[in-house]
Formats: sequence, structure tokens, C-alpha cells
Amino acid sequence: MSKTLAYAAQAPHTPLAPVEIERRAVGPDDVAIDILYCGVCHSDLHTARNEWHNTLYPSVPGHEIVGKVTAVGSNVSKFKVGDVAGVGCMVDSCRHCASCNESLEQYCESGFTGTYNGPVFGGENTFGGYSQHIVVDQRFVLRISHTDPAQLAAVAPLLCAGITTYSPLRQWKVGPGQKVGIVGLGGLGHMGVKIAAAMGAHVVLFTTSPNKREDALRLGASDVVVSKNAEEMAAHAGSFDFILNTVAAPHDLNPFLNLLKRDATLCLVGAPDSPHPPADVFGLIFKRRRIAGSLIGGIAETQEMLDFCAEHSIVSDIEMIPMQAINEAYERMLKSDVKYRFVIDMASL
Ligand code: NAP
Ligand code: ZN
Ligand code: ZN
Repeated sequence: MSKTLAYAAQAPHTPLAPVEIERRAVGPDDVAIDILYCGVCHSDLHTARNEWHNTLYPSVPGHEIVGKVTAVGSNVSKFKVGDVAGVGCMVDSCRHCASCNESLEQYCESGFTGTYNGPVFGGENTFGGYSQHIVVDQRFVLRISHTDPAQLAAVAPLLCAGITTYSPLRQWKVGPGQKVGIVGLGGLGHMGVKIAAAMGAHVVLFTTSPNKREDALRLGASDVVVSKNAEEMAAHAGSFDFILNTVAAPHDLNPFLNLLKRDATLCLVGAPDSPHPPADVFGLIFKRRRIAGSLIGGIAETQEMLDFCAEHSIVSDIEMIPMQAINEAYERMLKSDVKYRFVIDMASL
């Protein structure tokens, strides 16, 4: 066991503050990592504030981790001391169910173990990346393919925002010749725009913030639609092959469903704390349209995404913050005032 400094929420309405936590001793399959950078995901905020009603306290969020390997167990050959490594949303799963056997650990039938907040179906708490140090089984540690050390902070958000958008874009076979919508230009949304554009799709960004138009075009969108403007929306009726919705708040899905072609899919990745209003059934059945969901991505696919992003020179657009600014960052995130991912410089802790 070793002690390490971290930032934790002690209750839903108290600000995050410094605490000391314990990390396990490095076992034969473990990789010990000194955390350099940790991205700030909206799920961190949902969890710290118990918005999903399942938070274990103290809550140390953070699942977009990049750091330096400081020790490895005797069975570890994939990593050595001094390597740069990444940790995303999961640190374990059952390893033998049908989903785990298909490298889909995020859908583990016993529930994967989250990097923070413990196993999905309950159990001992786990502490995430808002800390100096972490110990993780090698099966859940990622190789970082980006070679420029100056980019490492901007690579961190790929570990959640990157894979959460990459996985559904791959699952629905997004590529050249397709018109793809991304809803919401936040952490996930801006990665969705970059990745879908790199896959060759024609990307349209839907936003509630008209002042993000220029940024969306710079990030790779071919067109930007202000979703509150009914006329702008109507111009795209029935024309989309796929729409990925990253919005963190409940909202009417029907205006987006109406933009889908026959047989096309609206995939939800945003996870609001209360349900969206009901979808219009006739709008679905007359065009055989689908609403789907998607959860992060498996470890193998996360590695594939990191390699894809390195190959296409994709990183996140970030604003670096010290650990001490996390509470203010959460407030700005709630106002959609993030360009486009906060990343904590862990040297500040
Ligand atoms: P974020 O950076 O806060 O971005 C969310 C974006 O949604 C905002 O920037 C804003 O974009 C838009 N938005 C916010 N409130 C809205 C409202 N009331 N109506 C319409 N649009 C609104 O959050 P994030 O980190 O990308 O996470 C987004 C959601 O995905 C969260 O719920 C998070 O928990 C969830 N998530 C899910 C998974 C998964 O595996 N499925 C993984 C990670 C995160 P505009 O200003 O452009 O409108
Ligand atoms: Zn996340
Ligand atoms: Zn499993």
C-alpha cells in the first residue's frame, strides 16, 4: 500500500477538496503510474454530485489519465518503467463473460469496475485520476501512440471523450459518402466532430451555442446548425445517415429524429440525470428509424482509437487547469463554457 494525494467530493453539494488516499501494492500484473494529466469529463461532475444516484463517497473522479510508469509487476511485459501510459474509464471486469470474451469489457455482464466509483453493480469504491498516482492491472492500461511529449495533456481526453465517440462511429460504419450529425460541442462532441471527419464523413454539428460556429468548422464540421432554430433544422429533414447525441441534459429528441433518413439511427451517448421527453412513435415507425445507446468502448477498441488518432494527428482541444480550479471548472462546464476539454496538470497537486 502507498499513500497518495487526491481531490475528492465528500458529499453531493460540497466542493472537491484535498484528501489522502491509499493505492494497493503493485501486484504481479500491475502497472504503477505517476499521473501527469487527467481530463475532466462531465461524468466526473454527474458522479461527484450524485446526479446518477449511485455515488460512493469519498468520490475521487477522473478517467482520462495519462502518466509515467514508475513500477511494473513480474508478469508485465507490455510496459516498463519510464513508459508513457494511459488509463480510461475501466480498471477491471469479470474477464470471462460473453462480452468480456468479445473484448467488450464495458458491457461486462457482471458490470465492469469503473476507474472511479467502483464496480457498476456495487462493491468497494475505486478512486480515479484526480490524484498523483494509480495502480492498474496491465490488461486495462493503454499504450500512448502519440510521440510528442508536448501533446500528452491533449491526448488524455481521448481515454473517455475519444473512445466514447469513436466506438459508435465505428459500430455504425461511418465513412465517406455519409452525412453524420454530432449534437453538442463539448468534450465528447468536439472529439466526435474530429473523428467523424477523419473517417471521411460529411459532418454537421448541432449546437445550442451560436458562438461555437467558427470553432466547429475549424474542428472539421462541414456545416453547423443552431438546433434551437426550427428553420435551420427543417432544411436538413430526412437527410442524415447517423446522428450521435452527446448532450448532458434532458431535451426533446424529436427534432433530431426527424432529420434521419429511413433506417437511420440516432445514438445517445450523453447521460443526463433525468430522462428525455418521449420520442414521437409515428416519426420512428414511418421511417423505420432507430434510437440506440452506446457506452465508452472496450480496451482493444480504445487502443485502436489511440492509434487511429495518432495516425490522423488528432488530439483534444484543451484548457489546462490546476487541480485547485476544479470546482470553478465544473461551474463553467454547466454553462457549456469549455473549449473543449479541461485537463488537470497534476503537477499542481
Ligand atoms: P460537456 O463537455 O459538458 O458537453 C456537453 C455539451 O452538450 C455542451 O457543451 C453543450 O453543447 C450541450 N448542452 C449542454 N446542456 C445542454 C442543454 N440543456 N440543451 C442542449 N445542449 C446542451 O460534457 P461531455 O463531457 O462531453 O459529456 C456529455 C455527456 O456524455 C454527459 O452526460 C456525460 O456523462 C456523458 N458521457 C457518456 C459516456 C458514455 O459512455 N455513453 C461517456 C462519457 C460521457 P452546445 O453548447 O454545443 O449546445
Ligand atoms: Zn468520461
Ligand atoms: Zn465480463
